[in-house]
Amino acid sequence: VSFADFKLNKQLLMAVAEAGFEQPTPVQEQTIPLLLAGHDLLGIAQTGTGKTAAFGLPLLMKVKFAQGINPRALIMAPTRELAMQIETHLKRLAVYTDLRIFAIYGGLGPKTQIDTLAKGVDILIATPGRLLELYLRGDLVLKELKTLVLDEADKMMDMGFMPQIRRILEIIPRKRQNVLFSATMPDKVATLSEEFLEFPVRVEV
Ligand code: AMP
Repeated sequence: VSFADFKLNKQLLMAVAEAGFEQPTPVQEQTIPLLLAGHDLLGIAQTGTGKTAAFGLPLLMKVKFAQGINPRALIMAPTRELAMQIETHLKRLAVYTDLRIFAIYGGLGPKTQIDTLAKGVDILIATPGRLLELYLRGDLVLKELKTLVLDEADKMMDMGFMPQIRRILEIIPRKRQNVLFSATMPDKVATLSEEFLEFPVRVEV
């Protein structure tokens, strides 16, 4: 299997080649066609397996180019470090697109983040606390979301983010595509995936 076998556009294939990805990793090979087809997905994969591009490339393919202000896709990450890493990675894959990708997280003042949100973001990456904070302040409109990704769900549960995740699920549109990635499957993550995913396809690497 090569990246050209997936229904990705030329802009993404160019960026993939430039990133030096010669061949899809196993998680990418399994995940990309399922997400492009619109399935909900439960992915069990560690960091280093290529999971970011596995959920990222279908997002970059499906989110429509720069229309309006409100994000159409949300990726939730447990930590600021992971949120920043996902942002860097997706921006690199999106260099030949017009998509606006941006991460919000705590640990610094919200001013710059609020200004960037006001200019418009297509794909938003966020830690749960900062997401709720900016939403409750009215700086963020989530009603146009069509895709939600929870990355490192086991870590999110370990860090006690379940109430925040539940709150966010209440806020966002019900009809959407859902993706959950976790390195391990403890009971808490199994419960979360039952609440959150609809007829998911399971991918394990
Ligand atoms: P991740 O598991 O998403 O954190 O990715 C781990 C590392 O693998 C990152 O540095 C990616 O740039 C790299 N990577 C992702 N997909 C591929 C691929 N298909 N070929 C080579 N490297 C990749």
